[in-house]
Amino acid sequence: MTDSIFTRIIAREIPADIVFESDRVIAFRDISPKAPVHLLVVPKTAEFRNVVDLAAADPGLLAELVQVADQLAAQYADGEFRLVFNTGAAAGQTVFHVHAHVLAGGLGGVPLAE
Ligand code: 5GP
Repeated sequence: MTDSIFTRIIAREIPADIVFESDRVIAFRDISPKAPVHLLVVPKTAEFRNVVDLAAADPGLLAELVQVADQLAAQYADGEFRLVFNTGAAAGQTVFHVHAHVLAGGLGGVPLAE
């Protein structure tokens, strides 16, 4: 199987604006932002396709993603944020390496979907 775009970012094979990194998690700015602050929080492992698989297999790692999202929303916005896990192609998932979208920074009345 070919590496996902996120695995290639983790390996520094392609550039990204990385805002956080730990042993198990990386976060970087989305290349096509949908909010004033739009970050992707990604486990370094590529073994989980979506949040359902991740929650079943490693709830501690899912909790780490949420904790990093909270920390980054405080650092880059006002601490309040929307956390989105697109799950399945019909729901808009395009990269099948689980990731959380952190949307923040003046969302105001921006609806859930356009
Ligand atoms: P999904 O649609 O799977 O929920 O989210 C994938 C996200 O990855 C999209 O919001 C898309 O803009 C972002 N993305 C795709 N390719 C790249 C890339 O090369 N670099 C960065 N930083 N984000 C990307």
